[in-house]
Amino acid sequence: MSTPEAFDVTVVGGGSAGVAAALAAARQGARTLLIERQQLLGGMGTNAMVHTFCGLFHPDVSRGPQWLNPGIPSEIGMALMQRSGIHKADLMGRVYVLRHRPADLAQLTAELCAEERHLTVLTATEVTALAPGWTITLGDRTIHSRAVIDTTGEALLARLLGDTHWDLAASARLYRPAYVWSFHGLKDELDEPLRLRTAALIVRAVKAGALPAAALGTTLRASPAKGEVFVSTDLEAGGDRWDPTDSDQRLHLESEGRALAHAVWDFLHSSHPSFGSITPPSLPVHAGVRESARWLGDYVLTADDLIRSRRFDDEAALAGWPLEMRETARGPKFRYFDQPEPAGIPSSCLRSSSLPGMFFAGRCLSCDHEALASVRVMGTCLATGQAAGQMATAFRP
Ligand SMILES: Cc1cc2nc3c(=O)[nH]c(=O)nc-3n(C[C@H](O)[C@H](O)[C@H](O)COP(=O)(O)OP(=O)(O)OC[C@H]3O[C@@H](n4cnc5c(N)ncnc54)[C@H](O)[C@@H]3O)c2cc1C
Repeated sequence: MSTPEAFDVTVVGGGSAGVAAALAAARQGARTLLIERQQLLGGMGTNAMVHTFCGLFHPDVSRGPQWLNPGIPSEIGMALMQRSGIHKADLMGRVYVLRHRPADLAQLTAELCAEERHLTVLTATEVTALAPGWTITLGDRTIHSRAVIDTTGEALLARLLGDTHWDLAASARLYRPAYVWSFHGLKDELDEPLRLRTAALIVRAVKAGALPAAALGTTLRASPAKGEVFVSTDLEAGGDRWDPTDSDQRLHLESEGRALAHAVWDFLHSSHPSFGSITPPSLPVHAGVRESARWLGDYVLTADDLIRSRRFDDEAALAGWPLEMRETARGPKFRYFDQPEPAGIPSSCLRSSSLPGMFFAGRCLSCDHEALASVRVMGTCLATGQAAGQMATAFRP
């Protein structure tokens, strides 16, 4: 075993929340370590090809797109717009969203982290053990850290500590995972009529037995890059047996997603003239998992808090995305806030007073299953990550 290395703040998980947490801590002068098990930073927004940032804008769309959380969320949003040549967010029904290219997010997050002299980034590195105090094990390396932030999206650090500090919804209710992939070379613009015609073609192909039933609900969305298209399919993933913390089930999900992507690609390429010259599918590093284990902190944010736009004295961030429930693979059910006003996320959702020096943010913050349908979106994850980074920096044992 090598000599332990010391950091003020260690962030485990380099997705939206983790990158924001690490940048916030390092910018305040904390000696910060960011650990990510994949090669690229960006989490689902890079490795699972999630290609639209939600939760970045104020829910009152009558004001036009207004950044909701200052600091790193709007900084990253603006930088992504600049990189992809987008001048304005897209209004989709009652919400604004920002389309991005996963490769741009990977590059931007890597560059932002490289600029911070107090920040060390370890990619392709997995945390496997944790002891209170805090000592983190990475293979044969040991890290001592005054404060730790769990941004793994699956409350991994809580689960390493035992059964007390986390919760997981019943399998049948967990928001369904999905497989997202892309192709280039679409000759025509992917406008609404072509999108709808293609969706109808896929439905007919499923009914005729030319595509598996899992392809129902496949949607296409244009990338900010001309000719590039993202294709997404929600998967039932075993329904009431789905367990996102089970590695065998995750492996099965990957092979199901890959097979489906190839089947849909073959079908589009061979049966629709607009898709005759598209490139073979670019597959994600892994399938997208929407919901896994969540921390149980000092406060558990509820759907009611969000729907009523409740505000808190110890507010850490603002949420503005509606509750986007995806408990089946048949598409989302939206529940909007009663008023087009943001809701507060208190700092007590990002810590537990029984574990001093432990913080959590992003998809695994302390909220109930329904509230997660809103706060899991990447814009909100950037905001809670930023807040956790600031809280961890201020922490003194
Ligand atoms: C299919 C799908 C579609 C979605 N659509 C949208 C959308 O349109 N807009 C939107 O805003 N949001 C969307 N979301 C939600 C959003 O992508 C996620 O909720 C969000 O990315 C969560 O961010 P995070 O940083 O909390 O976690 P993640 O992005 O999951 O990042 C967690 C990181 O932790 C790392 N990690 C895990 N365990 C370890 C370990 N032991 N050691 C080191 N690193 C570890 C992981 O590799 C990962 O990079 C979608 C999600 C899915 C799955």
